[in-house]
Amino acid sequence: MAPHATQNCITILRCGSCTTLHAPETARCSSCGGANLESAHCSGTGSIVSWKVVEPLDVGAQDDSSVTLAIVELDDGPWLYSKIEGSFPECAEARVRVAFRSTVCEDGFPVFGVCAA
Ligand SMILES: [Zn+2]
Repeated sequence: MAPHATQNCITILRCGSCTTLHAPETARCSSCGGANLESAHCSGTGSIVSWKVVEPLDVGAQDDSSVTLAIVELDDGPWLYSKIEGSFPECAEARVRVAFRSTVCEDGFPVFGVCAA
């Protein structure tokens, strides 16, 4: 797993050729095809594009709460697969606003929390 995030901040990638911003796992710029991607600071806030609730695979697990996985569109542009923490408004009319919280090491998904609207 790439060390793209630390405890309280998340780092995305910026193309060195055309300055397009990309998600941390990106290997090549989708805009110009360049591989010269450098780290860029990210605001850590965004909106949920799509989400689903995943039931735990391990029936005997101590923590049997289901997990919400979502695609978050960062305000900076890139889309990230993320885990959503906390209560989730299931019948939200508008896009759900989220903010980066931390990286979960066991599965590598960054964790976002739902913001007050
Ligand atoms: Zn580029």
